[in-house]
Amino acid sequence: MPQPQEQRERLTRERLTEEIGRVVAEVEQLTGLRSRWNGTVTVLDDRTAALFSPEPYSAKKEWSCSITVVTSVAAEDGRWRTLIHEALHSVSIGLTPQSFLLFPYWEEGVVENLQRLYRPILLKRLGLAVTEAAFTATEAEWRYSAPVDALRRIMAELPATGEQEFMERLLRVPLASRKATVFGWGRGAEDFERFKRVYAEASGHLNG
Ligand SMILES: [Zn+2]
Repeated sequence: MPQPQEQRERLTRERLTEEIGRVVAEVEQLTGLRSRWNGTVTVLDDRTAALFSPEPYSAKKEWSCSITVVTSVAAEDGRWRTLIHEALHSVSIGLTPQSFLLFPYWEEGVVENLQRLYRPILLKRLGLAVTEAAFTATEAEWRYSAPVDALRRIMAELPATGEQEFMERLLRVPLASRKATVFGWGRGAEDFERFKRVYAEASGHLNG
């Protein structure tokens, strides 16, 4: 007979595997990109997670392409934002350890913008009635808010595209080329000098 705690952990892992599977399928459909998620989930208790990471986190996509979720988040409604965020990393083009080291926020900013944009439709498609209140507190103080806003400021200087379309385009540009590609798009800006000033300031929030 498995021990109660062992059994609880197994059930949590099974539930999360099923939930991530559904989220990944929706993200693939929304983005038209294939996920590299390998179908496995690791559940880590909060203390162990803190030992492995210098910064607090609720989940992450490992380089092996499994997804790790911290126990305290696993049962909260707020986990959905995290699962969508990690699913987006798993489809992001050109996400490698090297490119992430050089351009971490060009990845985090794009993924987090899309997480927020896709979430309402995605939860609806999954038939979940989770209120926005489950996410707002976390997002108000979230450590990736600066890159989220920086990308929006750059976007505002470019010929009008919808925010979702802009972020989806970026998700398809290999991570190592995103910074240069966006600068190239700036040549189409109405006021290139102004674009350069905004880009210089905003990309400061996007560098590693
Ligand atoms: Zn992330």
